[in-house]
Amino acid sequence: MDSSDVQDDLEHVLYTKDQIQQKIAELAAEIDRDYAGRDILLVGVLKGAVMVVADIARALHSHVAMDWMAVSSYGSGTQSSGVVRILKDLDTDLTGKHVLIVEDIIDSGLTLSWLKSNLASRGPASIEICTLLRKPDAAKVELPVKYVGFDIPNEFVIGYGLDFAEKYRNLDFIGTLAPHVYQ
Ligand code: 5GP
Ligand code: MG
Ligand code: MG
Repeated sequence: MDSSDVQDDLEHVLYTKDQIQQKIAELAAEIDRDYAGRDILLVGVLKGAVMVVADIARALHSHVAMDWMAVSSYGSGTQSSGVVRILKDLDTDLTGKHVLIVEDIIDSGLTLSWLKSNLASRGPASIEICTLLRKPDAAKVELPVKYVGFDIPNEFVIGYGLDFAEKYRNLDFIGTLAPHVYQ
């Protein structure tokens, strides 16, 4: 879907399809440089990261394997609590692997902070994080993130994997919703 399909639901477009794809190419070039000669295990966090993983994986020249995790964060309403339950674990043994966790967005950072230490305890050779979006003003934990696409203001965004009530994940751009959609 593109912006013409959801015109009435949109407040504004934050990043166009072209801007996203350009950033994906830059991130992939950086990752290729850093991992030269090493195979990478991309760990995507379902469901939001599906688009980012699919596009990054295709933009990389490095050999990659892909695996997926689904987690749910306990918490009241929309606030993430940092207490995480694994809904779907990896199929892959991480021993000796170069793990790159790929995320759509880091908000409080609580979920990813938990996930990183969980995966780090499984004996990988290295573990880093790549996220397309990050909200620096929402950070609740200190979380080193090696690859960041865009730092964005603290507002709710949708598209390119990100949903509102499971809708809008298949937009090819990232934007904000008009208030009438969620009020
Ligand atoms: P954190 O633990 O960093 O607060 O939670 C991150 C998760 O919250 C993301 O993976 C995503 O599912 C959800 N999230 C945080 N901010 C947004 C946003 O602006 N839009 C959407 N659609 N989901 C968000
Ligand atoms: Mg996510
Ligand atoms: Mg969601």
